[in-house]
Amino acid sequence: MSLTGGGHLDADLVIACDGVRSKARPLVTDVQPAYCGITFVHGDVTGPESFVARHTGEGILHALGDNRAILAQRAADRSIRVYFAVRTPEDPSRSQGAWFEDSAAIRRRLRTTFDGWNPDLLAVLDEIDTFAYWPLYGMPAHQRWAPHSALTLLGDAAHVMPPFGGEGVNMALLDSVELVRALFAPEHGTLDEAIAAFERSMLDRMTGVIEQANAGGELLLSAEGAQPLLDHFTGAV
Ligand SMILES: Cc1cc2nc3c(=O)[nH]c(=O)nc-3n(C[C@H](O)[C@H](O)[C@H](O)COP(=O)(O)OP(=O)(O)OC[C@H]3O[C@@H](n4cnc5c(N)ncnc54)[C@H](O)[C@@H]3O)c2cc1C
Repeated sequence: MSLTGGGHLDADLVIACDGVRSKARPLVTDVQPAYCGITFVHGDVTGPESFVARHTGEGILHALGDNRAILAQRAADRSIRVYFAVRTPEDPSRSQGAWFEDSAAIRRRLRTTFDGWNPDLLAVLDEIDTFAYWPLYGMPAHQRWAPHSALTLLGDAAHVMPPFGGEGVNMALLDSVELVRALFAPEHGTLDEAIAAFERSMLDRMTGVIEQANAGGELLLSAEGAQPLLDHFTGAV
């Protein structure tokens, strides 16, 4: 049954998985996702294999500089999503996911932002037709939810975080599995006990995952460019 345009529906349990702008979140917490200081402008490359495509291979490409990064990721349909990442204040005139109307203007802006970077890498700007604005948001690593009944949140609605750990989808799927397990576990006498057990475990698990995602952002967008990431992998810190 669709509730588009209004209406009401009685349910024993509401599972809110409505993403970063969750309408159900205020029922469990006053805390809203905060801008993490990093904005992505992204677009997709679908054309013939080029410099970025060759270096992305079947996985990812990370080009890191002074508080800026160009990140690319191969998708299952063979396209490549390219992210231009910068530390910058949020632009209140745009919303997350909004497309830039003037692709030529955003190309010029990105060329300025990434001035001096490898021209072969920047050539990818001409391979992208349209660009989207994507500021990154996150919930705190430690959350405490107000008491509630017959309702729970999962995925980004519960714990959106910057994508630097690459764990958002995985955590959303794990939430779903753990919620079902809790709902069918014989030790939980009531629905609300099952929900409470699920949320305790989920919020506890997410503390470390969110901290890692935030730390990943510090590693990738650093004033020292690629050095912190190299140190991380070589165990120098
Ligand atoms: C740039 C970027 C890169 C990422 N890369 C990765 C990665 O490599 N690996 C990874 O695991 N994660 C990654 N993530 C994170 C991942 O995308 C999210 O964690 C994941 O999509 C969360 O899934 P979700 O279902 O909770 O929320 P969403 O994917 O946001 O889905 C919520 C859905 O609910 C719908 N909705 C909202 N309100 C309503 C309503 N009122 N009625 C009906 N429908 C509604 C929305 O339209 C949306 O379809 C990345 C995120 C970003 C921003």
